[in-house]
Amino acid sequence: MRLSLVVPCYNEVEVVTRFHEALSRELVATGRPYEIVYVDDGSTDGTLDELVKLAAADEAVRYLSFSRNFGKEAAMLAGLRYAGGDAVVIMDADLQHPPELIGRMLEQYERGFDQVIARRTRTGDPATRTLFARTYYWLINRWADVELVDGVGDFRLLSRRAVDGLLELGEYNRFSKGLFAWIGFESILFEYDNVKQPDRKSRWTFRRLLEYGLDGLLSFNNRPLRLAIYVGLLLTAVAAGYAVWVIVNAVLNGVQMPGYVTLIAAITGLGGLQMVMLGVIGEYIGRIYYETKHRPHYLLKQSNIDPIDRPATQTPRSRQLP
Ligand code: UDP
Ligand code: MG
Repeated sequence: MRLSLVVPCYNEVEVVTRFHEALSRELVATGRPYEIVYVDDGSTDGTLDELVKLAAADEAVRYLSFSRNFGKEAAMLAGLRYAGGDAVVIMDADLQHPPELIGRMLEQYERGFDQVIARRTRTGDPATRTLFARTYYWLINRWADVELVDGVGDFRLLSRRAVDGLLELGEYNRFSKGLFAWIGFESILFEYDNVKQPDRKSRWTFRRLLEYGLDGLLSFNNRPLRLAIYVGLLLTAVAAGYAVWVIVNAVLNGVQMPGYVTLIAAITGLGGLQMVMLGVIGEYIGRIYYETKHRPHYLLKQSNIDPIDRPATQTPRSRQLP
């Protein structure tokens, strides 16, 4: 079997060479033919030069470079499209995904699993973040169509058919965690100790996490729209009940001055609710808008992969690895 590694890199100039050495050591130890597909996601710090150097020195290195930063999702997609192996491992370049685990992944792959998923523990994470994460996963698993597991990220091995499955999902808004779960296949999870983010701060600010969370919620179901319908129905029922009460009261006791406070509360409350529901609908329309443009997920600037092997959409199945 042949193994492909897909490594998205964005401004990783400080670690990428170290990462490559550590990774190569492990890969050589597995004794299998392999290729490493580095995807430079529009880095501005010379990561690309570093990759060019690596490619010159090591024929197992393939690199793709984007014309600008398109995000990790796009980088992973590009890597998966170009990876030609029977199994593909996706890893971060910042050494947070220990290369030593690849051997274990291969063992499970050989036992017939299509997805071998590394799950990180939350040791060393701030308590508040852990709490948010827990709550979020609880929420999303009640709501979304796919099941997501806390601590599971993009670090995993995928079999050829799992990769092909992923590549068939051509959506523009890619929420990988959900896509991986959506394709199914035999999967197995194993745990590894959390590795602290190297020197620099995590790119995951609270706001980005919140937006990512919303993405996940909206990418995989239409339940927020359902909820809007239910809330609307409930409010209609309440309003109808209240109207009956007002009429009966007027008939029995005569018309009195209506309550100013009730009126204002109802107007502002309902106004707020309507805005929220409009927002929910808007979110979905926004997604439709992006999907209908059919824009490519990324643009390439430079690569050392033979143009013959460059697929527009599918995987180069026949490509020979060194
Ligand atoms: N990455 C990328 N494009 C981006 C942001 C990140 O390709 O726009 C890569 C980055 O180089 C790294 C991986 O994705 O290899 C994970 O990024 P990071 O370490 O910032 O995320 P975290 O570990 O905090 O989840
Ligand atoms: Mg990281």
